[in-house]
Amino acid sequence: MKIPDIVIAVDGYSSTGKSTFAKLVAKEFGFLYLDSGALYRGVTLFALEQGLIEGTDKINTSALIPLLDGIDLRFDAERGTCIGDRCIESEIRTLRVSNSVSPIATIPAVRNFVDSKLHEFGRRGRIIMDGRDIGTTVFPDAELKIFMVADDQVRAQRRFDEMVMKGQSPVFEEVLANLKERDYIDSHRETSPLQRAADAFVMDNSDMNLHEEVVWIRGLIQGKFGILG
Ligand code: C5P
Repeated sequence: MKIPDIVIAVDGYSSTGKSTFAKLVAKEFGFLYLDSGALYRGVTLFALEQGLIEGTDKINTSALIPLLDGIDLRFDAERGTCIGDRCIESEIRTLRVSNSVSPIATIPAVRNFVDSKLHEFGRRGRIIMDGRDIGTTVFPDAELKIFMVADDQVRAQRRFDEMVMKGQSPVFEEVLANLKERDYIDSHRETSPLQRAADAFVMDNSDMNLHEEVVWIRGLIQGKFGILG
């Protein structure tokens, strides 16, 4: 199926499988996939390493802001998220980073920094980007918007399994608590809170497998763009 050069925005709650879904769609339809959460995670790792976060959420914002433009965050096709030449893909997925990323993402200057990177990467068509505010703020004119939701226990189990596969030793209750905490902060912050764009299609994938998700979006694209086959 040949689909037009469009931007697909995928937003939703933590661990609803946005990135797995977006990667699959990218592969299936020949799109470039961009993970906006990885950039917030990259800034968080940077701030942690600079000693700018005390506990999980006491951030030295005034020290962080002037350093933002110097963080050479980029996506490498093979190695994933990097700061300069250093690959940070697995470090940004630890609970340490997850626990501080939502407070970091409430800072308007951080959001501006990430948004400008996303616009830089996404200047071409045929991209699928996932996050919390892609369809509302980053690309409000995206041609197709999807908002993903899933049951809390299902989401926590998915994140737990993912961490175990990566050799980490998570505690289920902590993973669940982190998801809920992030959802709360993400939905209640002042700048670009997580919310469904009015024109987004909702996917509840609590009981869906990946194949069903692809069938779902295929049907959506065919209906929306009048494509046959
Ligand atoms: O998508 P992921 O769970 O990796 O994102 C990590 C965090 O980054 C989210 O919990 C949220 O606080 C923040 N984020 C955001 N806006 C986005 C993407 C992620 O605030 N567009």
